[in-house]
Amino acid sequence: MAETKPQPRPSPESAPFWEGAKAHRLLLPRCNGCGRFWFPPSRRCVHCLSADFDWTESAGVGRIYSFVVFHRVYHPAFEQEVPYTVAIVELDEGPRLIANIVGTKPDAVRCDMRVRVVFEERGDQTIPQFAVVA
Ligand SMILES: [Zn+2]
Repeated sequence: MAETKPQPRPSPESAPFWEGAKAHRLLLPRCNGCGRFWFPPSRRCVHCLSADFDWTESAGVGRIYSFVVFHRVYHPAFEQEVPYTVAIVELDEGPRLIANIVGTKPDAVRCDMRVRVVFEERGDQTIPQFAVVA
């Protein structure tokens, strides 16, 4: 039997993020005190420590801040995927997320490329990933 890819396990703090992903919306905490976004989710704004925030939809666009290419199979479910790119994506709203860069061969990926969120259905979860904007 083929291995299945690991699933995210939402915490109370991250559950709205994963629920948003299922609806193909990239939701991030945005502070009602200072107006800034942050990620990963936490119960207080990382900028001003306010506990007053709302889950707000990101435009889902940004740039590749940094990346690595995985050539080794660390989990059997990824055996058919190597080599693949894992990037730190800096969203235009500021937060940085770790995701795969899909649809572009790893040797063509460069820092500062513009990317847009895409959603990968994985079991009963949905994973935000990023694709290079042509
Ligand atoms: Zn704040």
